[in-house]
Amino acid sequence: MENRPDLVISNAVVVNADGRRHAHVVIHGGKISEVVEAIHPAPDAVARVDAGGRLLLPGGVDGHCHVAQVTGRFRTLDDYAVTSMAALWGGTTTILDFGIPRDSMETPLEAARNKIALAQQSRCDVGLHGSVVTWDETVPAQLEELAAMGIRSVKMYTTNRGSTLADNDTILRVMKQMVRLDGLTYIHAEHDAIITDCTEAHAAEGDIGIRHLPLTRPELAEEISVKETLAMAEYTGAPVYFVHQSTPGAVDLVTDARLRGLPAYSETCPHYLTLDETVYGERFPEWYACCPPMRSAETVAALKDRMLSGAVHTVSSDHSCYDLSQKLERSDDIRQMPHGLPGVETRMPVTFTELVSPDGHGAERFTEVFAAGPARINAVPGKGVIAPGYDADLVLVDPAEVRTVSGAGLHMGTDFSPFDGKDLRGWPQVVVSAGRIVLDENGFHDPGPVGRFIERRGFTEGTRLPAELETANSQS
Ligand SMILES: [Zn+2]
Repeated sequence: MENRPDLVISNAVVVNADGRRHAHVVIHGGKISEVVEAIHPAPDAVARVDAGGRLLLPGGVDGHCHVAQVTGRFRTLDDYAVTSMAALWGGTTTILDFGIPRDSMETPLEAARNKIALAQQSRCDVGLHGSVVTWDETVPAQLEELAAMGIRSVKMYTTNRGSTLADNDTILRVMKQMVRLDGLTYIHAEHDAIITDCTEAHAAEGDIGIRHLPLTRPELAEEISVKETLAMAEYTGAPVYFVHQSTPGAVDLVTDARLRGLPAYSETCPHYLTLDETVYGERFPEWYACCPPMRSAETVAALKDRMLSGAVHTVSSDHSCYDLSQKLERSDDIRQMPHGLPGVETRMPVTFTELVSPDGHGAERFTEVFAAGPARINAVPGKGVIAPGYDADLVLVDPAEVRTVSGAGLHMGTDFSPFDGKDLRGWPQVVVSAGRIVLDENGFHDPGPVGRFIERRGFTEGTRLPAELETANSQS
């Protein structure tokens, strides 16, 4: 390796979740080797990017991303090559996918191994969550093997009867195992009996098309399921992470649990912060088929308050890449439709526009929910912070630049965006992934399938990561 650094990004406003400073960031061997205060000259390097005072943020960590997902007879339309390139276009340099058994014949271990094989094509770094649908006596050994592979979290669904629903016995037993393995339990919380009854009642009246989606999945169903799951987490001592929380009530339950000392976490998604249920009355209601559905404008505003106050810990995309023709196939019956929105590429601009002002105010909070928080809570080593010893995953952004979303102009494997037509800020201008410039003013530079599979650490180890890395660096 040449002695000169590979790359220096000079004259940047370097933003971490805990503050900002004017500095040059020096990159060597795919890692950040030095952060030099801007009062000093920028060190010489093989390549140089002049940030010109723009914001330099840690590369995004998207903790909730579905790649090549099969649900019933529908399969999402992007593979790892496409998803990871769209992620990089959108300033996300690490994605966490799920190994969800596609039916009762596939085990959690097989589902994870299949995803690891597909991830060989990834352009960015990849981690994985496991998933359990049905408990049997082989599950503890499978969870142990997953943990040994660096898969330290398991997702379960309290709804989706007949496909991914895990009953309370399963959830409780898996939580106990995850405590033993120092892992994290991910929960999709919606009360299945309420959802099922409410959906069937509307179907009986003929109100079962996409325009009726929000009527069939009440806020109450989400909140009561969060409450029930928190009770199981408290009983077992399991750290628990709620995916895509869509109501202030659901977030408040997590806040109350944390005040009692429980390691509970709240995730939301860009769409729940910005879109309300009036989208189901618009021209393409199919664009917004997801569970939970968009809520009332009042709920969206209250959720955003929780986000600004720090009660929400992460913003993930819940990326699920179907196209409009798949959505339209059965838009007359939401029970038959593929649910989920494409979003890995737009997570940054949508969230940035909500949290950061054109002069850059609020960028620290954005960094926390976009990169630092997801890396720490998911125990992803070397990510989410701009400091010596961390991976050189970086995003340069001009907080005032506005672009209008065009679904067709994005790079995900679909033909629409739920944010089509919106004017957004926070578009990456330069993206560096593992020390390589993958996006700059000359366009996208495909690095090839260089993404690494990340072995995540234990949950309690994850919270100690920053100190550990700094120690490792000062010794080198
Ligand atoms: Zn999901």
